[in-house]
Amino acid sequence: METTLRGVGVSHGVAIGEVRHMGTAVLEPPAKQIAAEEAEREQGRARQAVSAVSADLIARGQLAGGEAQHVLEAQAMIAEDPELMADVDRRVAVGSTAERAVYDAFAAYRELLAGAGEYMAGRVADLDDVRNRIVARLLGVPMPGVPDSDEPYVLIARDLAPADTALLDPALVLGFVTEEGGPTSHSAILARALGVPAVVALPGAKELPEGTVVAVDGSTGEIFVEPTPEKRAELETAAAERKAALAASSGPGATSDGHKVPLLANVGGPGDVAAAVEAGAEGVGLFRTEFLFLDDSRKAPSEDKQTESYRKVLEAFPEGRVVVRVLDAGADKPLDFLTPADEPNPALGVRGLRTLLDHPEVLRTQLTALAKAAEGLPVYLEVMAPMVADRQDARAFADACREAGLRAKFGAMVEIPSAALRARSILQEVEFLSLGTNDLAQYAFAADRQVGAVSRLQDPWQPALLDLIAMSAEAARAEGKSCGVCGEAASDPLLACVLTGLGVTSLSMGAASIPYVRATLAKYTLAQCERAAAAARAADSADEARVAAQAVLSGE
Ligand code: PEP
Ligand code: MG
Repeated sequence: METTLRGVGVSHGVAIGEVRHMGTAVLEPPAKQIAAEEAEREQGRARQAVSAVSADLIARGQLAGGEAQHVLEAQAMIAEDPELMADVDRRVAVGSTAERAVYDAFAAYRELLAGAGEYMAGRVADLDDVRNRIVARLLGVPMPGVPDSDEPYVLIARDLAPADTALLDPALVLGFVTEEGGPTSHSAILARALGVPAVVALPGAKELPEGTVVAVDGSTGEIFVEPTPEKRAELETAAAERKAALAASSGPGATSDGHKVPLLANVGGPGDVAAAVEAGAEGVGLFRTEFLFLDDSRKAPSEDKQTESYRKVLEAFPEGRVVVRVLDAGADKPLDFLTPADEPNPALGVRGLRTLLDHPEVLRTQLTALAKAAEGLPVYLEVMAPMVADRQDARAFADACREAGLRAKFGAMVEIPSAALRARSILQEVEFLSLGTNDLAQYAFAADRQVGAVSRLQDPWQPALLDLIAMSAEAARAEGKSCGVCGEAASDPLLACVLTGLGVTSLSMGAASIPYVRATLAKYTLAQCERAAAAARAADSADEARVAAQAVLSGE
């Protein structure tokens, strides 16, 4: 029988398919004794599981290619290590089950590595991953990480971290549903980047049995479990109609009376560029360079590797604007070699620009690589720093850009309320502002963007957030400089009109949202957007703000 669940819709469209769960951490297998005559069978099971995991890692490596292939092949070698296998055999011979023997043998090896110098200690995470895979196979539970499936599926997870997604095959993921996360969580951002429908903050999503057919409506936040044929047809028709209407909209972003609002794309690397170009992005408003650093959390990518990747993105927008954000490591995007491991509150610790000022060599390499990548290209390069708190931060960043000989505009992201409050002072050091509304909401409301339970406070329609945005936009206007939005707020078509009314000068979002925003913005004049913005700011809650803006725009 069809049932309906409701979460928060964060990426438009409808996905219909079977549920596959993201495998979670593997539990410790019970220490149960086996009879001597079972030993041979258990040893065989262990060997079979090891070979299967090793073969799977090699196959995944071939699929991924590049650096990921090397990492996965190294993991396959760990799995087949003869010393480890001999230890598993010994443990089974004295009464362990196959899964327990694997677990204990890896634990002993882990201790050895952890104490054997920094490089070897860095392999511990790989070792744990291999162990989890073998144990999961022996226990018959889903593999940790991305599901193994040859058929397209709807991915269900507690939440998704950027590192989880490195091996996600966009051709297989029809849509996402997560228990945690709000509209600005990485799951939501990733779904928009992939252009797949997604619903977050749905408690109980993990209870949906593997293989259940669901229909995910990423616009309304509804999940129809075992949808009837009529419901499927209804959803598919509505989605197709919406898509056709959107395909008809094209050209640069503007209000109906011609006030231009460039619509730019958020990208994580060269892989996202084709979708951005196809959606008609007028450039890139946020290049999240940290994805380039996730391949290997032990060291920064070389200058050459960075140059190559930056150049590919810059080349895609000749004559266009490309805003590159320097590495934003820390908090929800930790990197082993940069992020302190012992911070009590990582979101309030050394992250973003703070990390780079502590590691000037990483910033220097990145800026030099960018300068080289832009050489000879007609692109308008802009470079910005994440997590700028005050004028001192902005100056330090601008100095680093000048020292690297970068010929670009330097800017600051407004992600911390202090930066919005003192935007004019920051603009004495840099040439533009870009509002990171995801973090700005997180810090203004003291609401962790990864926690589904506080997603109400992460709602970008919160009037207090609109006030901070208005303050930044007014400061930029007074200084004759630009102030864009590159947080997820820009991807909500109605809110995009309100942001325009608040004085924001460009909107940057996941490519898939661009047609929706373009089509909605083109329906209203700038004056209507300004009235909608004033009405939203006068409200006392996010819901009221949304209703008030909608009422103004629909002329009620
Ligand atoms: C933001 O915080 O709004 C932002 C754009 O940066 P990220 O989502 O990568 O933290
Ligand atoms: Mg941010």
